[in-house]
Amino acid sequence: MTTLTKEEDSPAPAGSGTFLSVRDLYVHFSTEDGIVKAVDGLSFDLERGQTLGIVGESGSGKSVTNLSILGLHDPRNTEVSGEILLDGQELTGAAERTMEKLRGNKMAMIFQDALTALSPYYTVGRQIAEPYRKHMGVSKHEARQRAIEMLTKVGIPNPKLRVDDYPHQFSGGMRQRAMIAMSLVCNPDLLIADEPTTALDVTVQAQILDLLKDLQQEFGSAIVLITHDLGVVANTADDLLVMYAGRAVERGSVQEVLRAPQHPYTWGLLGSMPRLSSDVNEALTPIPGTPPSLLAPPSGCPFHPRCAFVADVDGVSCSDTRPALPDGRGAACHLTAEQKQTIFVEQIKPRLG
Ligand code: ADP
Ligand code: MG
Repeated sequence: MTTLTKEEDSPAPAGSGTFLSVRDLYVHFSTEDGIVKAVDGLSFDLERGQTLGIVGESGSGKSVTNLSILGLHDPRNTEVSGEILLDGQELTGAAERTMEKLRGNKMAMIFQDALTALSPYYTVGRQIAEPYRKHMGVSKHEARQRAIEMLTKVGIPNPKLRVDDYPHQFSGGMRQRAMIAMSLVCNPDLLIADEPTTALDVTVQAQILDLLKDLQQEFGSAIVLITHDLGVVANTADDLLVMYAGRAVERGSVQEVLRAPQHPYTWGLLGSMPRLSSDVNEALTPIPGTPPSLLAPPSGCPFHPRCAFVADVDGVSCSDTRPALPDGRGAACHLTAEQKQTIFVEQIKPRLG
């Protein structure tokens, strides 16, 4: 037997650099109306065992970004360019066969709606056991035992009995747990959770987030947590990326971004979202205006048509010049560092209470 492997199947040695590295990612869709620039030059890094929160209003490109990592875009109308390195392996342009192997094995996804991810026709146990059997090559019996073990881990009561239930026999929260069990069954190194708790009530939401954190500790997975809710990332993520119109406009540790946000869009998000600790009657201020059309995004800073601080910027035009996002902590905004700090402390913070 030869030990030769095909080049596309042999990733760079583990540990050589950042675990997930996205560089200058562009995702453009061809549509009847023109080119939709859904992701427009995005870069970020994620290390093993860490959670990156990606926040932004609906339509900012969060899901499109993550579908490109998973290689799930339709190549017939989607152009993906840039670099996506997973453990040293380039994913943009990788063969579908390679991506299929990676999905469910090295990387897995948790969706917002468990009902679309779980088939109504097969038992929950079978849907957890099948990918395990397929990727690990174990017997049916072993795979079933593993399904019971996973149901136990995600906190399904009576797992030995419930393993033979169909999804409709589970409550919404239990289905979400079952989907998490399905995603984690092959110990993926990268877990992409796209609005994993949006459809759930607040109590179940907190339980699911705790569960993700516990499982991350056990498996050491890297997690990308996509949400439009800053409350969700506050307690779950290590780093935060704020997206607007297909671009990253601010990044930093969760503490840095939540304690001293620098981008006017992040200020707007904070003012428009209920905080976990706040009382229900708190007044929320929506960000004026609407997100831009991605068929014809605004020139310069994409947020400038909605920004209240354009007139404070000196010497450069927000409508002409696109502000760059610095590496590490920072915001893509032409305000000076001092302005960002004073405006937040004097004008924004008092309103947030
Ligand atoms: P979100 O941040 O809410 O997850 P998405 O990433 O789903 O936003 O979408 C970003 C933008 O890309 C939206 O304007 C959406 O309409 C557009 N979009 C997503 N998928 C497609 C597609 N297959 N064809 C054309 N436009 C798309
Ligand atoms: Mg989405």
